[in-house]
Amino acid sequence: MSNIQEERSEPFRIAIIGGGIGGLFCALSIHHHYHSTISGQDGHGKSKRNIQIDVYEQAPQYREIGAGVGIGINAARLLHRMGLGPELVKIAGQRQGTWFAFRRYEDSGEIISVPDAEPEPGDVRQSPCARSDLLELFLTAIRERRTATLHTEKACTKVAVLDEGRRGVELQFRDGTAATADLVVGCDGVHSVVRDQFVTDANNKSVESGMIAYRGIVPTSALEQDWPFAHWSNIWISKHRHFLSYPITGNTKLNIVAFVTKRLGGGRVINDAEGEQNKYKNIRESWSSLCDRDEVVADFEGFDEPVQRIIGLMDEKPGRWRINDHEPLSRWHFAGGRVVLVGDAAHAMLPHMGAGAGQSVEDGWILGRALSEYLEGDSSSSNKRFQSLESTMQFYQDLRLPRAQKVQAASRVSGNLYELQTEEMSQLSYEESLPVMAESLRERMKFVWSEDIDVTYSRMRDEQAV
Ligand SMILES: Cc1cc2nc3c(=O)[nH]c(=O)nc-3n(C[C@H](O)[C@H](O)[C@H](O)COP(=O)(O)OP(=O)(O)OC[C@H]3O[C@@H](n4cnc5c(N)ncnc54)[C@H](O)[C@@H]3O)c2cc1C
Repeated sequence: MSNIQEERSEPFRIAIIGGGIGGLFCALSIHHHYHSTISGQDGHGKSKRNIQIDVYEQAPQYREIGAGVGIGINAARLLHRMGLGPELVKIAGQRQGTWFAFRRYEDSGEIISVPDAEPEPGDVRQSPCARSDLLELFLTAIRERRTATLHTEKACTKVAVLDEGRRGVELQFRDGTAATADLVVGCDGVHSVVRDQFVTDANNKSVESGMIAYRGIVPTSALEQDWPFAHWSNIWISKHRHFLSYPITGNTKLNIVAFVTKRLGGGRVINDAEGEQNKYKNIRESWSSLCDRDEVVADFEGFDEPVQRIIGLMDEKPGRWRINDHEPLSRWHFAGGRVVLVGDAAHAMLPHMGAGAGQSVEDGWILGRALSEYLEGDSSSSNKRFQSLESTMQFYQDLRLPRAQKVQAASRVSGNLYELQTEEMSQLSYEESLPVMAESLRERMKFVWSEDIDVTYSRMRDEQAV
């Protein structure tokens, strides 16, 4: 038997490192795309090669923190196409036509109200949800569809590319065990071990925004009485502080993220009480880091009554962490296409466009579609882009990297807009800054929501077809 025949008789093994939103969606997408052709045959009349997907998660359980995540319509479309639409609609909150009303911090006066993306046929719409609900939705689908084997307590410590003669890549785990795969997908988040092993240039570094975020979820039932607004999506704006809330879980809960800048450009200290200059230093960039509610109270002193009511309902120990992103990378795939990055591992971004998870979903969708084309044709595809694993991963990168990095860059600017601290605003008062911010918000989210990444895929595929 030739090598190729031998390889075709064995399953193609995909190891996904990290079982967060990006990793689980990627597993679903690969399975969905590869099995959506029902013939059971590849493009050449031969029976299809089996695939085997393993997800390796470091934590003892597949679990998300108690916080919300705004799945934009661009990502919601893809969940619907995968057949997960009805479940998504069930867990999502409803923004009632308003993405966010931006309000003055001291009296809630409206600065600008940014409309939400119009719903699309099939109840496709913006879908803010609880992270835990979204993860559960993915886990249920993975189990029902028998998409992948889910492993826990498997912290990947090393990815070793095997030399000629031994197929694929070897993974080593903290518990001393190892596994091999034909393709390793690094979905291991902002502190990616997979990325750190393959990206060794100066751009492989995280970048501090100087901001921290407090997080919490409160019940809307406790706020309903005398709630002064027609909806739940509001952002209160002050210089160097903004307080954001949006509805999740069928509008029964309100997700809270409250941002404070502690260090301005050049390291200038602000919003840190005297004598506590090192406090910021001790705040960790960690999803599990907590603080006392008193800190939120102190940082949002002077904010209007609805904000004070919300803070009063937050847990006594809300989440609090440093907000960092990562320098843009020039490459997302390595080792002849046998290792590839997805989600925050590839493009960790600041949360100010509410788009990081949506970008991970787009990555997973495109990777699944492209990989299926490669596996369907298995090296004799008529389209040159899918003739090798490396060219397939290059196609994924060509399509996804520019868009994800555009969102990454826009997220940095948005954070400074909301905190009224762009360069242009540095010399402006609060009053003078508000119209500048309002003007730049009007169309800001359109490019994220409007692009249908599947349409882009078809166009690029055909442009590149040979
Ligand atoms: C304050 C805040 C608010 C946000 N709000 C939004 C929003 O509204 N909308 C939005 O779209 N995005 C939002 N984001 C961004 C979004 O959370 C991320 O982009 C998204 O979670 C990325 O998913 P991921 O799967 O790539 O990474 P992660 O969610 O970080 O998942 C990585 C997974 O890999 C596991 N892992 C890590 N290392 C290893 C290892 N060595 N071996 C095995 N497993 C490993 C981790 O345990 C984890 O389960 C926000 C982010 C922040 C910080």
